[in-house]
Amino acid sequence: MSATTAIELVQGDITRQSVDAIVNAANSSLLGGGGVDGAIHRRGGPAILDECRKLRASQYGKGLRTGRAVATTAGELDARWVIHTVGPVYSQSEDRSDLLASCYRESLRIADELGARTVAFPAISTGIYGWPIDDGARIAVETVRATPTSVEEARFVLFDERAYAAFAGQLR
Ligand code: ADP
Repeated sequence: MSATTAIELVQGDITRQSVDAIVNAANSSLLGGGGVDGAIHRRGGPAILDECRKLRASQYGKGLRTGRAVATTAGELDARWVIHTVGPVYSQSEDRSDLLASCYRESLRIADELGARTVAFPAISTGIYGWPIDDGARIAVETVRATPTSVEEARFVLFDERAYAAFAGQLR
């Protein structure tokens, strides 16, 4: 376990990052979708979807559960692995925070299993799944800080200025 995990913030496109592992905000089908998921599959090429299909056929016939994570090749991305995790859809009537925290914890656990030292995360659930960005940023930063891991750098890659500002607010 490394003494500390450095948290870095970058505004930009996660598919352009050079890291050991890129985390994907996937959906439970593992068969691709919009947002960051679509971008990862587009730039990473068909090898990622091939492996996702095989995972579905072997272990995840009913889909990957919310809050869980699984790794595949990163295809043509400048990374060794993509770690797919399924964020919760935001709900006003039910507190799903622990499921969102679980995405970050499980992704770090898989990263440790793989031996990944640098991991790029998107702001999981804060797009199509509707999680308010300030709360999503709080859960992301608190969870990564509280999770024992050998990952040396957790890099949050925020697509727009507003998401970047929300994460920066958490680091102050
Ligand atoms: P979810 O379904 O988990 O909400 P989305 O992909 O819709 O997933 O959005 C998650 C976050 O990723 C949003 O903040 C969105 O702005 C951001 N995002 C979308 N495309 C990219 C990208 N290429 N790189 C980094 N972040 C991205």
